[in-house]
Amino acid sequence: MENTIKFNPTERIPAKGYAVSAKDAKFQPFNFTRHPIGDNDIFIEILYAGICHSDIHSARSEWGEGIYPMVPGHEIAGKVLAIGKNVSKFKVGDYAGVGCMVNSCGECEACKRSQEQFCERGQMVLTYNNLDCFHNNEPTYGGYSNNIVVSEKFAIEVPKDAPLEKVAPLLCAGITTYSPLKFSKVKEGQHIGVAGFGGLGSMAVKYAIKMGAKVSVFARNDNKKQNAFEMGVSNFYSSLTNVKEKFDLIISTIPTKYDINSYLKLLKYGGEMAIVGLPPIETTPKITATQLVYNAGKKVYGSLIGGIKETQEMMDFSLKHKIYPETEIIDANQINEAYEKLTTGKAKFRYVIDMKSLQ
Ligand code: NDP
Ligand code: ZN
Repeated sequence: MENTIKFNPTERIPAKGYAVSAKDAKFQPFNFTRHPIGDNDIFIEILYAGICHSDIHSARSEWGEGIYPMVPGHEIAGKVLAIGKNVSKFKVGDYAGVGCMVNSCGECEACKRSQEQFCERGQMVLTYNNLDCFHNNEPTYGGYSNNIVVSEKFAIEVPKDAPLEKVAPLLCAGITTYSPLKFSKVKEGQHIGVAGFGGLGSMAVKYAIKMGAKVSVFARNDNKKQNAFEMGVSNFYSSLTNVKEKFDLIISTIPTKYDINSYLKLLKYGGEMAIVGLPPIETTPKITATQLVYNAGKKVYGSLIGGIKETQEMMDFSLKHKIYPETEIIDANQINEAYEKLTTGKAKFRYVIDMKSLQ
């Protein structure tokens, strides 16, 4: 085994990061341990971690009571420091990415078709805020930290020349928007609408344009209109009134309360609406049977991240075509400020934490 660091496969690994102790608490430095490196695991030094709006929903218990202390972060990019004896996909020194999942049963139909996020045995383990059934139900801790131990199957290969700080957000914002565009089989010339123009929305825009679509953004103000046109969108709507364009697909990445029906009305016959934004439970948008019937011939579906195989495909596609997120690098002690900006309309796209700032 080629390890640059010595490790004992029975010893827990010290880690440090930033955690919240309750839903209304601020992020504070936090020391904890990772489970030992198993035979199929790799040990990653985390270099960059993106801040996804899901981190905010989770940290603030907006989707249900969180597990505290909580170290969020599921947009992880780093360097492999050690590998277990059965590992074949990675060598020490390689770059690797970790997204929203760190394990699953691997045997059910969903896992076999690499849709691990739908593991039929309920054994999909989320990167944080989850209990790890493969490790004595210990709580999982995410990427706002200096290292992670993960089964190699759940780590994404990243080439050595990739810009790691831009790679990190691909692990969630990238795959979550790439997946529905593929599922809906986006074709050249189609009209695609992207509702919510933040971390995910901007990735949806870039992928859809690369796929040859005519892309329009729906936002709630004009703050990022110029950014959208620089990315190549055809239209930018800060209000839904008077929109004449009809869409083949609208992807909603909106993280707040909104009216799904007003977007359904903008679909062509046969058009689709993919919902990925997940507002807090108390404000979750609803759609009635009547609204569906009066929008007959249109389809609405939800999309949840993407499987590991598709995540690797997205990574390769993004790097090949140089499709990267718009990022702003911050230090770990600026996480509280970033959360504040992301929830008060003051953020642009993706904040990425530089983990060197933890030292
Ligand atoms: P961001 O905060 O980066 O972006 C959200 C954007 O939506 C912001 O630009 C915001 O605008 C805009 N917005 C907010 N409310 C409205 C509204 N009513 N109408 C139009 N635009 C609006 O969040 P992310 O992109 O990181 O995440 C988006 C959502 O996707 C979250 O709910 C997240 O949990 C979810 N998600 C779902 C996943 C899945 O697998 N389904 C995976 C990952 C994330 P402003 O700048 O004005 O605030
Ligand atoms: Zn995410």
